Amino acid sequence: ALGLTGALAYSIYELRHPEEQYEPDPNKKTLVILGTGWGSVSLLKKLDTENYNVVVISPRNYFLFTPLLPSCTTGLIEHRSIMEPIRNILRQKKATVKFYEAEATKIDYEKRVVLISDDSEIKGDISHTEVPFDMLVIGVGAENATFGIPGVREHSCFLKEVTDAQNIRKRIMDCVETAMFKDQTEDEVKRLLHMVVVGGGPTGVEFAGELKDFFNEDLKKWIPEIQDNFHVTLVEALPNVLPMFSKQLIDYTESTFKEEEITIRTKTMVKKVTDKYIEAEVTNPDGSKTLETIPYGLLVWATGNAVRPVVRDLMSQIPAQKDSRRGLAVNEYLVVNGTDNIWAVGDCAIANYAPTAQVAGQEGAFLARLFNTMAKTDTIEKELQALSHEQSLAKTDEDRNRVFDEIRERQKQLRRTKQIGPFQYSHQGSLAYIGKERAVADISWLSGNIASGGTLTYLFWRSAYLSMCFSSRNRVLVALDWIKARIFGRDVSR
Ligand code: NAD
Repeated sequence: ALGLTGALAYSIYELRHPEEQYEPDPNKKTLVILGTGWGSVSLLKKLDTENYNVVVISPRNYFLFTPLLPSCTTGLIEHRSIMEPIRNILRQKKATVKFYEAEATKIDYEKRVVLISDDSEIKGDISHTEVPFDMLVIGVGAENATFGIPGVREHSCFLKEVTDAQNIRKRIMDCVETAMFKDQTEDEVKRLLHMVVVGGGPTGVEFAGELKDFFNEDLKKWIPEIQDNFHVTLVEALPNVLPMFSKQLIDYTESTFKEEEITIRTKTMVKKVTDKYIEAEVTNPDGSKTLETIPYGLLVWATGNAVRPVVRDLMSQIPAQKDSRRGLAVNEYLVVNGTDNIWAVGDCAIANYAPTAQVAGQEGAFLARLFNTMAKTDTIEKELQALSHEQSLAKTDEDRNRVFDEIRERQKQLRRTKQIGPFQYSHQGSLAYIGKERAVADISWLSGNIASGGTLTYLFWRSAYLSMCFSSRNRVLVALDWIKARIFGRDVSR
């Protein structure tokens, strides 16, 4: 039994400690990967790291399972349950991968270096330096779009990172507790308990649903005094929410929101934000426009993506990127147009697909296949060179024939290996939680589409997201969080 335990312990040790190679191998190319989101991590997962000197750079030393981030804003799920340390992912690779927790501040295309800066609170002697690359993958995602609307950055909460979800959680409870402060005026109570979400894409809809669940299932039980004044409003500039879903599911979402008493304000475009109210331009049924002031306690801004400065700066260095506005234009192999050694994946790349986790994940996996293949091709080409040298030295016919056969075999292998087609996205469908234990799903099935909404879809949504979690550890933690909230309710402390 001891032997078995020892063997098991050793195999776990082996699994967790890649072959040690701390210095870069001069015979291998240096592959630098920026980011630890969906694109970069799915590349890392499938990449044969022993073929390159792999360096990962990201200000975030964990992968975040973003589809469940809205649930963290209400404490239904604890944020650590959907985080996976990048070190944990890296130590399961065959060869050592270097990781620098830093922000890439500039990519110098000519010099082939990435400038990095350590933004953590503790600073060592060096906090700015550069990392050279032979090959570079950019998977830095996008930042929150504000369209330059005044006051957005200063006064609203975003919903992209763990800290955003934590801020929202604190802010919800701050609004509630402040509204309960002794002698608060009625108007101020109404304002503080007005939760406004701007942007009717999936992020805004899912957050509004989660927030109303929090109110219905927990808040109003703990603090019944807020019952009449707690209100959630979703503001959207277009005529309807969730434009990427089918008409039937949009209608279903809108009717569910009506039952949940979430107000949807469509054709309402926010133009200005102050610390206590937003100003919005409302398009009336007759086409006329009026300006309206909407007071709020919590404002969550979810109006999509904008290009990060480091990406915009790189675009300005490459003439072929001149006409691209929304991100790095890439070809069908995800090579950044105008370069031959830079690839881009996920929300920073423009490859004619929506900026979703699903697209980024598939792009990362494609690049891993491409890089593994490139390394294999290199090896075979080197072997072919050696064989043709051997052939020229061969003395007997028998030797020459043997080498000739080997060359033919390698050439066949090379042709097979080189046959990697361009990236093709396979859409599995769209899923969104809409509150009240209901979800909507547009699923691609065989050659058609299935649109469904309701409680069964919600169970499907839960199991799909659970199975998509990064690791078994995450899966267990998320499932336990769900059970915990069902038994004890959510934690309403700040
Ligand atoms: P989005 O781009 O999908 O939606 C933003 C919405 O904000 C738009 O409908 C836009 O009309 C509205 N808007 C913009 N400016 C406004 C203003 N000033 N006032 C009022 N409304 C305004 O953004 P998102 O929801 O953050 O999603 C980003 C991407 O991530 C999308 O591609 C989305 O499909 C994907 N995503 C998918 C899921 C899912 O599948 N469950 C969840 C989250 C995000």
